[in-house]
Amino acid sequence: MAAKLSTYRAKRDFEKTEEPSGSKKVRKAEYPRFVIQKHDATRLHYDLRLEHDGVFKSWAVTKGPSLNPKDKRLAVEVEDHPLDYGDFEGTIPKGEYGGGTVMLWDRGYWLPEGNENIDDALKKGELKFVLAGDKLKGSYVLVRMKGDKYGGKRNNWLLIKHKDEWASDDGEAALRKDKSVASGRTMAQIAAGKGKAPTPFMLAANHAIKPDAVWSTDGNEPPSEPKPARRTATRRATSTKPKTARGKTATAKAVKAKIAPARAAKR
Ligand code: MN
Repeated sequence: MAAKLSTYRAKRDFEKTEEPSGSKKVRKAEYPRFVIQKHDATRLHYDLRLEHDGVFKSWAVTKGPSLNPKDKRLAVEVEDHPLDYGDFEGTIPKGEYGGGTVMLWDRGYWLPEGNENIDDALKKGELKFVLAGDKLKGSYVLVRMKGDKYGGKRNNWLLIKHKDEWASDDGEAALRKDKSVASGRTMAQIAAGKGKAPTPFMLAANHAIKPDAVWSTDGNEPPSEPKPARRTATRRATSTKPKTARGKTATAKAVKAKIAPARAAKR
């Protein structure tokens, strides 16, 4: 995993930004997770991240995902991101790589469609997949472009919605739901460091990010790591409680309905 994240780390100075360096422990999940971060950088875009093989495969979707199957949205493949990045909401300092406000716009679980091997699909340049998020649901495809419409670079893909019950002629409908899936906040509130703190999805609850998380240059320490032995004991002692952290949300129900059959077909 360290090798996969070398590009990500090389682009950032962790003395100056409090973006995760990929060293925090991420909780296990029944299905691979996805997040979409709305990123008000030099140009506004939406970062689609699909958990695979211990990292987030990442694409910057310039106009954001559309619900209309007629829309082809440019999705520029970027470097793999660490899984703890999936809880990142706040501000990257100006002058740093990707400087600007980041909102956790959507998140949930994903699976490739049918029997597709993810590595093969990515290599081939066509990944059909299903999302079970709060805002985005159902079938999508990422297709790598061969032509030179956008300069012919091998990192240009198109994100296209497949026709299904979650498709819509109103392609922008999801984008108008413009609040954080993790905190309910607007971009302005996040930028101001106000409102509710984002609820964690990737990390354990004690890593929760503060509402005023401005990832600035003042050298704030990231939240301290839990003490492993103690933590395990506490977990066991409370394990009779109903599961809440994962698997019991509305999102998870959508996964069971839509993703579980795809997974069964894989076996
Ligand atoms: Mn970005």
